[in-house]
Amino acid sequence: MSLDKNSTVAVIGAGTMGTGIAQIASTFGHRVQLFDISEDQTKDSEKGLVKILQRQVEKERMTQDEVDGILNRITFTNHLNSVEGSHFVIEAIVENLDVKQSTFQKIEALVDQKAIIATNTSSLSIASISSALEHPERFLGIHFFNPAPLMKLVEIIPGISTSSGTVKKARSLIDAWGKTTVQAKDTPGFIVNRVARPFYGEALRIYEEGVADHATIDWAMKELGGFKMGPFELMDLIGHDVNYKVTESVFKEFYYDPRFKPSFAQKRLVEAGRLGRKSGIGFYDYR
Ligand code: NAD
Repeated sequence: MSLDKNSTVAVIGAGTMGTGIAQIASTFGHRVQLFDISEDQTKDSEKGLVKILQRQVEKERMTQDEVDGILNRITFTNHLNSVEGSHFVIEAIVENLDVKQSTFQKIEALVDQKAIIATNTSSLSIASISSALEHPERFLGIHFFNPAPLMKLVEIIPGISTSSGTVKKARSLIDAWGKTTVQAKDTPGFIVNRVARPFYGEALRIYEEGVADHATIDWAMKELGGFKMGPFELMDLIGHDVNYKVTESVFKEFYYDPRFKPSFAQKRLVEAGRLGRKSGIGFYDYR
């Protein structure tokens, strides 16, 4: 069975990525269950989405009816049982192997054997996550970029056990959502995060060495390097907790290759709760 508008979608994790993915799926016409363990997070997700969509109405990019439709198709929930019977499940929870594996075990018990299950992980191996599944042939990585509704590219990552049918169905669904898909091998960081690691890592290193302050580095990269965002602005957008975890994971996966060594300056930001835009302060102050 192929996936279409009538297929129901479950998104696990209502944080930055999960909320964006739910918005895309609902805009396409799916009924979406958006699950998070945290009630506060679910409320914030709904509030944030209403605000984003309302802005689209103000800018006359969407009608109020379209916005109401998108919001009505999404159920914000704190009950995992709500994902029961979903045809397509995509997970965007914390970047932690044990937590992801145990969540997928619970999900597998709730959906049909033919349902496609995906992870939005940035750095964990698809093979390692899938080892906890009873049916790893219907599991794969589908890696969106932040902000998911705006970023065109999506990486499709089959694991060692993923069937070709699963890849085909998942890829045609994501293409139908209006994204541009690229298939990548199950290797640390896949394509974009692997290439981008030194962008963050080297920026953090020269900042720690006192070569320049973060604002100057960002300014230079944008004005002189032609980048859309500087590395510090981008890390503030991604979230330092997420970015640091991904770096740690890629570092470990590459057998502690010093090229990917995480930064103490970023670790301190995470420890202090200065996670970037989402907490109001990171390298920059958004309060
Ligand atoms: P986030 O911190 O914004 O959101 C994670 C959400 O997961 C939180 O709302 C949290 O309450 C929830 N959660 C934690 N454990 C849970 C569980 N067991 N069940 C249900 N919900 C749970 O994180 P994010 O930035 O949205 O990242 C999520 C995933 O997407 C990670 O795997 C990350 O590597 C990946 N990713 C992030 C980005 C990015 O730029 N932030 C880009 C691509 C991929």
